[in-house]
Amino acid sequence: MSLKYVKNIDKPIQKIRFAVQVTFALLCIWIGIEFSQFISYLESNGAGIFHQRPPGAEGFLPISALMSLVYFVQTGQVHHVHPAGFFILLAIIGVSFVFGKGFCSWMCPVGFLSEMVGDFGDRIFKKIFKKKFKLHRFIDYPLRSLKYLLLAFFLFAIFSMTEASLAVFLSGEYNIAADLKMYYFFADISRFSLIVIGSLFLLSIVIRNFWCRYLCPYGALLGLVGILSPNKIKRNAASCIDCGLCAKACPSFIKVDKVITVRSDECTSCLNCVDVCPVADTLDVKNVFSKKKVSKKLIAAGVIMIFISITGLGMLSGKWHNDVSKEDYLMIHKHLNSIGHPTSSSEINELNKSTEKENVKENEKGRNR
Ligand code: SF4
Ligand code: SF4
Repeated sequence: MSLKYVKNIDKPIQKIRFAVQVTFALLCIWIGIEFSQFISYLESNGAGIFHQRPPGAEGFLPISALMSLVYFVQTGQVHHVHPAGFFILLAIIGVSFVFGKGFCSWMCPVGFLSEMVGDFGDRIFKKIFKKKFKLHRFIDYPLRSLKYLLLAFFLFAIFSMTEASLAVFLSGEYNIAADLKMYYFFADISRFSLIVIGSLFLLSIVIRNFWCRYLCPYGALLGLVGILSPNKIKRNAASCIDCGLCAKACPSFIKVDKVITVRSDECTSCLNCVDVCPVADTLDVKNVFSKKKVSKKLIAAGVIMIFISITGLGMLSGKWHNDVSKEDYLMIHKHLNSIGHPTSSSEINELNKSTEKENVKENEKGRNR
């Protein structure tokens, strides 16, 4: 099965969305440069110029952030190792809760790259086949469930840990070193990883948003949160002329022209469908409670303001930077290769028990003194 895909970058709101995407992509590049300078300091063994580690790098540690979120729910405290990651995740969930999966189409650098690659693929397919390729639903549906299976796996692993085990894991060397390891994963990438990333890239040319649609567990989480969003795409069936342009414009292949309200977990609030509708007041974002239209500019401003407000709250609360000293980072960096992942929750529980035993011994020593 195939669909034509209409692109409307000439529309003002799409220009704003593109500008927001570019800004966030540049922000990520800037964070990457700052982080590489911090790594240079660690590699100099403390002899070089010290560069502050950018806390924004924690935005690339979603599993650690999810664990911090669970820790926060359990204890009411922001864990001190990757606090910025926690606030970034909270901001992204906040955006999804109000505007669906808006983070994916407005801010996510991977989503942006995926969109660019998809557009490139569209141009090729339009030239050769005059159509955009789409997998048949019998293949598409099972593949879409993969990201939920991955999310379920991570959630199961996190929720099978006790509160104390979670605290031990979050404070452990592996979690502290997670961003350093991620840096070396890309800076010193293996042939196998390159093949996997290259394959995903090529697949994204043929199948639009391959990573986001089928594999990203983060997107799965945001899609589920987004279903609860009160602001939905609404079609007025009375004035609709059934031209089908909205469905053709949708990069998530949602049949917008066949529903009254878009409730899909794949809707990213990109507003492409709203932009192409030729009939006034027929396709809009509406609040399901007030039934009022939500303007496109308000959505753009809302997505940005929610993100800035929550991450700003983290900065103003003084919890944005972690409390790992540069001396600790230098020590951890020295034996980075020997730091392995505690492979199972039982291993972490064991680690927790040994920590508890050590605490008991320390307390006994204190009493005997
Ligand atoms: S339904 Fe509309 S807003 Fe949602 S992903 Fe499709 S084009 Fe974008
Ligand atoms: S683009 Fe507008 S008029 Fe055309 S099918 Fe969609 S809602 Fe109806």
